[in-house]
Order: sequence, then C-alpha cells, then structure tokens
Amino acid sequence: MNVTVDLEGRAVIVVGHQPATRRVETRYRAAGAFVEVMSAGRARVALAAARTPPHLLVWVDGRESQRADLAAVARSLGIWLTDEQPAADLPRGSVTLVGGGPGDLGLVTVAGRQALLEADVVLYDRLAPTETLEAWAPAAELIDVGKTPGHHATPQHEIERILVERALRGLAVVRLKGGDPFVFGRGGEEVIACRENRIPVTVVPGVTSAISVPAAAGIPVTHRDISRTFTVISGHAPLTESELTHLTGLDGTIVILMGAGTLVQTIAGLLQRGMRPGMPLAIVERGYSIHQRTTFSTVGEITSGLGRLGLRSPAVIVIGEVVRVASDDAAARGCVQDIVESLPVPSQ
Ligand code: SAH
Repeated sequence: MNVTVDLEGRAVIVVGHQPATRRVETRYRAAGAFVEVMSAGRARVALAAARTPPHLLVWVDGRESQRADLAAVARSLGIWLTDEQPAADLPRGSVTLVGGGPGDLGLVTVAGRQALLEADVVLYDRLAPTETLEAWAPAAELIDVGKTPGHHATPQHEIERILVERALRGLAVVRLKGGDPFVFGRGGEEVIACRENRIPVTVVPGVTSAISVPAAAGIPVTHRDISRTFTVISGHAPLTESELTHLTGLDGTIVILMGAGTLVQTIAGLLQRGMRPGMPLAIVERGYSIHQRTTFSTVGEITSGLGRLGLRSPAVIVIGEVVRVASDDAAARGCVQDIVESLPVPSQ
C-alpha cells in the first residue's frame, strides 16, 4: 500500500536513539512535522502523561516487548504507530552531484530525478531547476546555497563542509547544479572533498548550457562544412593573450559562458588578433525561460550596440559561422528585427 500522509504541523514522537534515529528525524522534520526523539521507556511515560497525545509514533529501535507495549498504548489513544529503518541498517551516507540542465524541467535526466527522489538532503543553487524541488525530492531537507553573479551566498568551502557533514551522518546528499556539474560548476572540487572523507560520490552528468542554450536559439555548435570544432571558455575573468590567439586561429565555434561582463574586452582582443569584423555573433540570454532572448550581430558591430541591449544574466555568447544557421532562419521568418530592433542583421 502506498499511503501519503500530510505531516505539516503534526506532532510526531520518534522512538529510538541517536544515531539510529537521525535519518528518520530529518525526513519527518523536512515533511513539516514537529519531531521529538525519545527512548521507548520515555515515550511510554510521555504518552501516559500527555494531555494531547502526538499524532504519530514512529518506531525506529528498542526491544520488541517495548514496541508491543507502545503499540497497545497507541491503539488505546487512537494514534498511529509506524516503523522506520534505523540509520545503522542503511547504506553509508553518500553524495550525488546532479547536473540539472539549463533550466527546463524536461532536460533533467532520469538518473537525476531518481537521485532527488531518494535524497535526504538537497543543496541547490540559482541555475538549477528549483520550482518542483519539493515534489521531486519529497523526503529531503532543502538547502539553498544560491549564488548570484558577483555574490556567493554560501562560500564553496562551506558547501563542501555541509556535503561532507551530512553524508557522514549517514544521509543521502544530492548537490543539484545548473547544467553539467563538471562544466564551470566546481563539481571536481566537491568530488575531491568527498573522496578525502571516504564518502562514496557519484556524478550524474547534466545537459550543459554551453551546447543546449545555443540550441534553444537554433544554433548548432558544429555544422557540416561550417565548423568542426567548438571551444567552451569561461569569460568570468578576461581572456588571456594566448587564449585569444588560439581561439582566433582555430577558426571554429567559440562558446563563452559567464562572458557578459568581459565581452567588450574579449571582442577587442579577438579583433586585434585578426578575427574578421563580419564574424557572426549571438548572445542568448536566459535560455529555456519565458524571457529567453537572442541577439544576432557580428564581432565588429556588437560593442556599439551593447549599451542599448542591457544584457541580463545568465547569457551564453556564441561566435562563429554556425550562428548564421539560426540568424538566416530568423531573418527569413522576419524575426530578427523583433528581437533587437537597433542591431544590424548579419550580412548574407
Ligand atoms: N555548469 C553550468 C555552467 C555554470 S557557469 C552548465 O554546464 O551549463 C554559469 C554560466 O552558464 C552562466 O553565466 C551562463 O553563461 C551559462 N548559463 C547557464 N544556464 C543558462 C541559461 N539558462 N541561459 C543562458 N546561459 C546560461
């Protein structure tokens, strides 16, 4: 039988001892219950003395005779008694890094959904799809470690500390990230922190924004006879001289993440190293949201249009001939002028 009970605001006594009761306690608290943990003996006394009995007794551990005794008391009070596994019988705590994709719920993997379903704790941030988290991770304590650009709400070392601490308590911990955990997601550091503490760690890859956000705007990162290489680079810090030289020389697609703040410098650097001013460029903001906006321009012309654009993060910048695949189509449908009136349509 699969019974779902609304525990919001309900008084629950969890019967047993730490650490066996920890996991159960966390889950019931996460479900909104007021939880007290006590031994079977104390629970017996508390029930006899209580003016208003709790709504639910949860048996985790103790002697079988005590359980039978409590079951009889519960029956006489008209309250439920249910059994839960002590934490010691459960596998060791674990950490699963889950790539949540670029924001569209349909782009979370089946493995990612399964990890959320089984999670006791979920640490998530701004770029991860969060609107359905309560339903997708019904038993979990949800911890927002949200980062906004330039403002790290929870420092990375603190995130790692929480991951390790919860896992060492025997809990199944999920770290939900936007896109793929290993693409500018600091997932590698979190894996190392777990390994240093001998915590089993799994990585569920995600759909990275580096490929999917251009796709959402109709831009393929490779295209037969147009581009057979694509480079994903972070624009968080200005690109170095050698990066600019190599990117220009590759003559492939360049995908820049976190690049809005340094875009003017990047463009100047690419032009200086010989990139054609007519090279198509696209900026895709807030991919997969209802506010998605695509701007088509060229390397030579984007800088003068930036002020009018008022770029909003998150945004992916794509530079390369592949941009034409989408911009030609948009122009054919007469869309480009609607998207950004004042920017020029790239020449055909
Ligand atoms: N691990 C992530 C990237 C994290 S870095 C991934 O694989 O997608 C954060 C950057 O990703 C943002 O600054 C932006 O450049 C890009 N990004 C993530 N989601 C995006 C979205 N929905 N729309 C546009 N850009 C996005």
